Amino acid sequence: MGYTVLSDMPTILSMSLFISVLTVVTRMYRDSEMVIWFASGRGLISLVRPLLRFAWPVFLVVAALALLGLRFGRARAWRQLGYALAGWSERYGFGEIRVSHEQNLVLPDVRKRDLYALWREACAAGLGTANGGLLTDIIACPGGDFCALANAKSIPIAQAIQQRFDDLDYLHDLGAISLNISGCMNACGHHHIGNIGILGVDKNGSEWYQFTLGGSQGQQATLGKVIGPSFAAEEVPRVIERIVHTYVDYRENGEAFFDTVQRIGLEPFKERVYAEAAV
Ligand code: SF4
Repeated sequence: MGYTVLSDMPTILSMSLFISVLTVVTRMYRDSEMVIWFASGRGLISLVRPLLRFAWPVFLVVAALALLGLRFGRARAWRQLGYALAGWSERYGFGEIRVSHEQNLVLPDVRKRDLYALWREACAAGLGTANGGLLTDIIACPGGDFCALANAKSIPIAQAIQQRFDDLDYLHDLGAISLNISGCMNACGHHHIGNIGILGVDKNGSEWYQFTLGGSQGQQATLGKVIGPSFAAEEVPRVIERIVHTYVDYRENGEAFFDTVQRIGLEPFKERVYAEAAV
């Protein structure tokens, strides 16, 4: 309740300010004060200064509340999501939630017949995207937004890639591809073992991104190899697109991304990525 009031206060205060200014100006016209104002050689514009003198403390309070509301609004959204998850684990499982290193939450022991109902609830909470194990199921470290050690941001890069690849049918057609992003060489995003790895690097004080291909975890654990010079942040989604197109052109009989990279090596990817980058 308190959070809701706080979030709505900027709107309420702005509306109150607008109505009070409108009321004062209307009264001034009604009481012929404006006739005197104009007769003394002053225009409407000269009303702005006294109005601002009256309104600036309200502007300050609105700005402060807006910032606070944003902060508390996010906190409230996360809290509600936490309650929703806890509720699902109680109702559909045995009250257990597991966190995977792929940065996903797993609700174990859900009966098959309840899966659809659970998925509907997850969709309503914004968690229903069926992209587990696909290109947009990204592992990203906190990066420059939250980590003092970072060379570059990770989260906005992951978001830009997710926005570029928002067609679930296409993602399912591509099949399993792991994409890992680390904001520095400490590698908390395990970029070395992503099929596609992205490492944030610092070049003369600006953020750049180096790509590795062919990494893998599990039975076929492999370190990815660097494909060449790094790219600016805005180029990253386009580079991923070129890598994916190269894979689609070379894959054989539904071959997985990792297997295609192992079979053809890095050269076809490098040629495509850097040839098009040079255009
Ligand atoms: S990889 Fe670097 S930037 Fe990312 S969380 Fe670890 S230390 Fe921070």
